Amino acid sequence: MLLLTLSASPALADWFSDARAMMGTEVSIHLWSDDPEAGREALEEVFQEAARIDRLMSTYKDKSEISKINRDAAQGEVAAGSELFGLIQRSLDISVLTRGAFDITYDSVGQYYDFRSGQRPDPETVESERQHIDYRLVKLDQVRSTVHFLEPGVRINLGGIAKGYVVERGIDILRGRGVQNAIVTAGGDSRLLGDRRGRPWMVGIRDPRKDGEVAISVPLADEAISTSGDYERYFEEGGVRYHHIIQPSTGEPASGVRSATVFGPDAVITDALSTSVFVMGVERGLTLIGSLPDYESIVIDDEGRVFYSDGLMQPASDAPE
Ligand code: ADP
Ligand code: MG
Repeated sequence: MLLLTLSASPALADWFSDARAMMGTEVSIHLWSDDPEAGREALEEVFQEAARIDRLMSTYKDKSEISKINRDAAQGEVAAGSELFGLIQRSLDISVLTRGAFDITYDSVGQYYDFRSGQRPDPETVESERQHIDYRLVKLDQVRSTVHFLEPGVRINLGGIAKGYVVERGIDILRGRGVQNAIVTAGGDSRLLGDRRGRPWMVGIRDPRKDGEVAISVPLADEAISTSGDYERYFEEGGVRYHHIIQPSTGEPASGVRSATVFGPDAVITDALSTSVFVMGVERGLTLIGSLPDYESIVIDDEGRVFYSDGLMQPASDAPE
């Protein structure tokens, strides 16, 4: 027995990491495992789960459940699986909480942007389509698990919440496998399981204007952290930065903030709230976060100034310029 324990060789315990391009971004996993094979299997299972969720929720895939809803829900009720239904429900709840700053119908206009090719809707399209940005036009039937849009022209997109769901599910899988220390990241959303074996994880918030540089590092354990930034997906035209976070009231990219970071217990919520705080701006955004005891926020405004929610201690160091 003793021999067996020894040959199970604790020396093979190590960090296992991998990253893959998916969901229009990068999904990365970093975990501690006592056993290399189990470690590699765990990595694979989380990537498979991310791919499965993407197949359900990507508007870029014609066959996804959400694409079917976008095609048919204005004509009548469309059945949705419990997972997608649940995430739409949570999205609408956050719309109520943020008074419409977070709104998955942003895509009624958002669909006309293509950040890779630098395309944007003309002012007439923005003007005519922005009336379809209104989460109250999405009706859910709990009993039948159906989605119905109250008018044509409405389109939903879970881009502001689905990555949080992916990392939350990824951590669930790892926890179920007995992993105790891990970090799962999808784009700007991360969920931390445990710590870095005796030390906190140091999570860097990017400098929004200096590629690859970290503006602020936050020590965290057992928490979710999400950042929404105007540098993630954007193009510039005539000195204006057109980026991927839409102000629902105008149908144009939200202004006033370069990045909004939110951390707290649940990555689905931090994901949606980082997008929300970005849209709401420093003052309204931090007031909202101040009303949520479990969540904190760090916002960098369009002049590079850094603002902290009330629950955070102001560090002595200065803001990045
Ligand atoms: P990232 O995708 O960089 O992690 P976010 O979490 O802020 O950043 O998500 C931005 C995405 O959220 C956009 O690409 C778009 O799909 C979606 N989105 C944009 N504006 C809104 C909004 N007002 N409400 C909800 N979702 C939005
Ligand atoms: Mg988000």
